[in-house]
Amino acid sequence: MTETSDLLDIDSLFTADELALRETVRGFVDERIRPNIAHWFEKAIFPQEIVKEMAGLGLLGMHLQGYGCPGRSAVDYGIAAMELEAGDSGLRTFVSVQGSLAMSAIYKHGSEEQKNEWLPRMAAGEVIGCFGLTEPTAGSDPGSMKTFARREGDDWVINGSKRWIGLASIAQIAIVWAMAEDGVRGFIVPTGTPGFKATPIEAKLSMRASIQCDVELTDVRLPATALLPNAKGLRGPFECLNEARYGIIWGAMGAARDSYETVVSYSQERLQFDKPLAGYQLTQEKLVNMALEINKGMLLALQIGRLKEAGKLQPHHISAGKLNNCREAITICRDARAMLGGNGITLDYSPLRHANNLESVRTYEGTDEVHTLILGNHITGIPAFR
Ligand SMILES: Cc1cc2nc3c(=O)[nH]c(=O)nc-3n(C[C@H](O)[C@H](O)[C@H](O)COP(=O)(O)OP(=O)(O)OC[C@H]3O[C@@H](n4cnc5c(N)ncnc54)[C@H](O)[C@@H]3O)c2cc1C
Repeated sequence: MTETSDLLDIDSLFTADELALRETVRGFVDERIRPNIAHWFEKAIFPQEIVKEMAGLGLLGMHLQGYGCPGRSAVDYGIAAMELEAGDSGLRTFVSVQGSLAMSAIYKHGSEEQKNEWLPRMAAGEVIGCFGLTEPTAGSDPGSMKTFARREGDDWVINGSKRWIGLASIAQIAIVWAMAEDGVRGFIVPTGTPGFKATPIEAKLSMRASIQCDVELTDVRLPATALLPNAKGLRGPFECLNEARYGIIWGAMGAARDSYETVVSYSQERLQFDKPLAGYQLTQEKLVNMALEINKGMLLALQIGRLKEAGKLQPHHISAGKLNNCREAITICRDARAMLGGNGITLDYSPLRHANNLESVRTYEGTDEVHTLILGNHITGIPAFR
């Protein structure tokens, strides 16, 4: 938090090490992301040169233990996600896809050989991974996936299409989820394998400083060692999604805080009717409502983080955090945009960029509706998904 946003002395709930990490990541964002992000967003550039810098800061697979990974805590990871997303959701998304999705899939479900082969290089930013679950006709309901993996002798042969796959065109490996005879299985697919084709999705209005792709898999032949041995059924991808959803709970509050701070200072400097905008009651009400939601969202993130550290995290905790913090963050960013008047529609100010990015964030890793249904099921005991 910062002086203008921390109404409840939430900083006192963090350890000195956590606050130090926050300063390090915040410094990186100030130096490397803020001066460049408007250009990257406008030109739709994912700045690959910062991958190694993020690795150097220990941000890739940061909450995984061993195999060259930093082994930081859940709250550390959340703090890093929040500070990165205060810069731009696209850059936090990179860290999520690499660490929480691709690396987690190998860490949770891979063999020792697979972990030793890939995780150290992924933590070092030498190998980029992507995570292919969504398909053109299977989004919220991944169990309806059509991508199929069939056995041919010892080999596996995969055919199908994936959509919205982050980083796929620059990744060296893809975690591909496919239906096999015994249900959903996961595979480590080197992206140079014949039949693997990734095409970036262009003309996006959101997440422009990051890459998402359509992926075609045509007779992609893999050795038996490509199979993730410990992932059977949808539990495999869902366990990884929960890691990424956890980071979003914090990240969304970073985007909200950045928008809020932008309008706190703007409204103090901008004069209309002979007075700073901040001097009007209507403006102050907006600022107060934003600050309240940011403080509540931070407490929610921290509670969920401490539950995760204690090994007590349940899926409905994650849904509560993701649903609330995305919903409140997007409202804050949109309100902040309006408070900037005409200036708010330019890339000189962050709120509309954040709001547009959060359109993706509220959609991926379970939409608002999906998390509402998870919570509804938890509360009533009645699944209403179909
Ligand atoms: C920027 C971005 C990055 C992404 N990165 C990745 C990635 O790296 N890997 C990956 O595999 N996927 C990725 N995705 C895909 C993302 O996870 C899906 O977009 C998401 O799961 C929603 O699926 P869908 O787009 O097919 O929408 P749909 O599932 O078709 O949903 C459309 C609408 O219907 C609603 N809906 C669905 N089911 C119900 C229901 N039962 N009741 C009521 N309403 C319902 C949804 O909430 C939504 O509002 C990414 C998406 C984006 C936008």
